[in-house]
Amino acid sequence: MDFTSQREKMVWAQLAGRGIRDARVLEAMRRVPRHEFVPAKFLEDAYEDHPLPIGEGQAISQPYIVAAMLEHLALRAGDRVLEVGTGSGYVTALLSLLCAEVYSVERHARLAVAAETLLERLGYRHVHIRMGDGREGWVEHAPFDAVLVSAATGEMPPMLFEQLREGGRMMVPVGDPSSQELQLIGRVNGRPMVTILEGCRFVPLVEGIG
Ligand code: SAH
Repeated sequence: MDFTSQREKMVWAQLAGRGIRDARVLEAMRRVPRHEFVPAKFLEDAYEDHPLPIGEGQAISQPYIVAAMLEHLALRAGDRVLEVGTGSGYVTALLSLLCAEVYSVERHARLAVAAETLLERLGYRHVHIRMGDGREGWVEHAPFDAVLVSAATGEMPPMLFEQLREGGRMMVPVGDPSSQELQLIGRVNGRPMVTILEGCRFVPLVEGIG
């Protein structure tokens, strides 16, 4: 299978074609081999326009929604970023190309270990993965320039906002399990400034560890 041309097509049709403009985001999505992050039985679908199951009832996110979240975060090369919900490690890999350090928290031990092993094998650097409840963030490494939450929550977890630096940005899907909206939350004078973006559908952000 020619994954490189499938990936090119994904970037062109699903991302650029739908309005993603950030050149760094498009380049990162062109480089990260998404097929390495999906289970073998879904290899043929790796570059399709939808999420895919990764075990434990979880899913690798749809390419477009990942690109939209990364674009809205407007990451800079020197940023330190917190990711909540490592899952397959796909977004972790993209983040590691877009910023300086990635701290990622995953509640499922099996997923956390698998993602860490895979990212190391593929040579992604400056990635730190911890098993735990991501709603608590990773206080030892706070404050963060940006926070990306890959699971849906009824309301923005306050501990994550506390770990955002002044001027920092958070992307979080807010809503109930069947319908959510992406929110971009900036920290301005210590207060959340919320911009509501498009609709989305993520697995729930679950309390405690798995
Ligand atoms: N970005 C990932 C998305 C995985 S789905 C990818 O593309 O592969 C969301 C992930 O969030 C799941 O792996 C799930 O186990 C994890 N998750 C859910 N609640 C969590 C919590 N409270 N803390 C940490 N991870 C959580």
